[in-house]
Amino acid sequence: MKFTGTLINYYFHCKTQCWLFANRINLEDNSEDVRIGRVLHEIREDKVSEVSFESIKVDKITKDYVIEVKKSDSDLEAARWQLLFYLYKLKQKGIVKRGKLELFEKNRQNKKVHFVELGESEENELVEVLQNIEELINLPKPPKPHFMSKCKKCAYYEYCFI
Ligand code: SF4
Repeated sequence: MKFTGTLINYYFHCKTQCWLFANRINLEDNSEDVRIGRVLHEIREDKVSEVSFESIKVDKITKDYVIEVKKSDSDLEAARWQLLFYLYKLKQKGIVKRGKLELFEKNRQNKKVHFVELGESEENELVEVLQNIEELINLPKPPKPHFMSKCKKCAYYEYCFI
C-alpha cells in the first residue's frame, strides 16, 4: 500500500472515508465543497511550484517550508497530519523542512497560516498512525458510517446514508 497525503487526511477526517478511498471506491464528487477545492487548485497562483515524488504531491516547497494550501480550516487536524506526513517523507530523503498550512476562506479574501513542525513525538505518532491505517484499510469491510455534520459535504454521502 502506498500512503498518500489524501489517505492520511481521510484517516483523520473519517475512518469510513479512508477505507473506501484506499479500497478504490471512488465516487464522482459534485458537491459544492469539492468544486470550490478544484477551482481553488486551478487558480492558485503558485500552482507551477507543485512538487511530486513517489506517491506524494505537495503544493509548494520553498527553502524553509513545505506549504499545503486548503480551502478552509474546517478540518485542521486532518490537514496538519497530511502536512506532517509530507515532512516525514521528505525527511526520509534527507530533506528537513518545516510545514506551513495556508487556509483560505471561500471568497479567498482571508488567509490563515498555521505552522507545523515534525518533532520526535510527532514522528513517533505518525509511524503509529501509518500502522493503524494499514490495519484499517485491510479490514474486509469499511467501518460503519456515523453521521456527522461534515457528511453532507462528503463525496460518499449517498453511499453511506442513502
Ligand atoms: S459520508 Fe460521513 S461517514 Fe460517510 S465517508 Fe463521508 S464523512 Fe465518512
